[in-house]
Amino acid sequence: MNLPLITRAQEHNEKIAIIVPRGSANATTVGVFTYRDLLYTSSQIATSLLENADDLHEQRVAFLIPAGFEYVATQWGIWRAGGIAVPLCVSHPRPELEYVITNSGASIIVAHPNFEDILRSLAEEKNLRFILTSETLPSNVKNLPDVDITRRALILYTSGTTGKPKGVVTTHQNIQAQVTSLINAWEWTSSDRILHVLPLHHIHGIVNVLSCALWAGAECHMLSKFDAEVVWNRISHGDLTLFMAVPTIYVKLIAAWENASKERQKSMSAGCAKMRLMVSGSAALPVQVLEKWQSISGHFLLERYGMTEIGMALSNCLHGERLPGYVGQPLPQVEVRLVDESGELVPPGTPGEIQVKGATVFGEYWQNPQATAKAFQDGWFRTGDLAVVENDNYRILGRMSVDIIKTGGYKVSALEIEEVLRTHPDIQECAVVGVADIEWGERVCAALVLESSQTLTLESLRSWAKERLAVYKVPTQILIVEELPRNAMGKVTKPIVVELFC
Ligand code: AMP
Repeated sequence: MNLPLITRAQEHNEKIAIIVPRGSANATTVGVFTYRDLLYTSSQIATSLLENADDLHEQRVAFLIPAGFEYVATQWGIWRAGGIAVPLCVSHPRPELEYVITNSGASIIVAHPNFEDILRSLAEEKNLRFILTSETLPSNVKNLPDVDITRRALILYTSGTTGKPKGVVTTHQNIQAQVTSLINAWEWTSSDRILHVLPLHHIHGIVNVLSCALWAGAECHMLSKFDAEVVWNRISHGDLTLFMAVPTIYVKLIAAWENASKERQKSMSAGCAKMRLMVSGSAALPVQVLEKWQSISGHFLLERYGMTEIGMALSNCLHGERLPGYVGQPLPQVEVRLVDESGELVPPGTPGEIQVKGATVFGEYWQNPQATAKAFQDGWFRTGDLAVVENDNYRILGRMSVDIIKTGGYKVSALEIEEVLRTHPDIQECAVVGVADIEWGERVCAALVLESSQTLTLESLRSWAKERLAVYKVPTQILIVEELPRNAMGKVTKPIVVELFC
């Protein structure tokens, strides 16, 4: 029995699956690959991975390949050979790659020639099999093993803003549930064409964009990295139906739109108008960004909430009213509850931890039973995120660890304060954190990136903010910085911001 993803691809055979620019990202010629190409090349890769074996039996295969056809064919090849795919991050330095390879216990490394220098020596040191994607693939394809959907498929390392990254293990069944939930909610069809600009070692790029597109029989147009000008060029063609990105990308696209000539702005906006859906997620979408994006694209971004461990859990509706600052309701196949510190359900209007249950939820952190046990409460996954339900819609208040600040006994949301600070005319970006304080428990502190050639004193900010926020939410200390510290996913690393104040 083939995996359902493979059986479905066989139905789409001659249809285009992947389109990539040839040569530079701005190239006018493209490489076009059908579902048949994907099926054939992945079976060749599976054959090569298997060597003399019949089944990889969940051996981990780490792979480092830029976004494009080879990445997808390798991922499918690993799955078809019965292995677990461990995608590595193209921008990670050696120690981070080594950590993932060692922690996952990978026995094979597959690398694009661009990464040969860094990975061949690692493979030799650890006595691992090393395969370059440029090697000739076998022309005699083997009979591939039956892979049951209950088997492990993928290990993704969580972004690591807290402690050492943990390997989140998902089965084929988990991924299938994550994909079909989104296909139903966002009405993916084989007529869709999506532009893929996201990292491919993270759930957003792997599941929400790539796997959904290929499950639906749609076209996935892949760029090897995000470049605002290139993305706008593609959007301006007017042939895409879907776009999904993190808020930082929307901010960069807005800046590029603002710098463009009037004529170009028109064609950029016209390209957006041709799309049926634009989605934001993986971090809180500032209302200001949502509004600005709406004014230039005509799209009220659909914001959704999810996590590596659970896939997507909450989403604004595809049709009907979306509320700015809210992430809507539970997606199909996902159960969500909000609980207080003692595990009791909280009523609407009261903040609680988001806990999630369902077929989309992962089974374990790789070889870390203690962390796995700690992550669940009565069969519910504890996200560590706080939310509140208002008007039947969930509003994310932030992570329980850093974005929720306890000051003088008040529980306040850093995201909420940031949202207000961003409306200050002199503030371009900001990060609010709680800094330990004997008297208050924690003090509200803000790192600020100012608009060019502006200055701001604490006193003037406080008197401005007091008119907009309860006094206990107003920052008691500010720090003007050139830029905010961010991780590989572009998320602000709050623990590092906290250190700036210590
Ligand atoms: P990751 O596993 O890297 O996708 O990170 C998941 C975390 O990102 C969640 O636990 C949230 O803290 C955050 N997150 C994801 N989507 C949103 C959203 N729409 N609003 C606020 N935070 C979000």
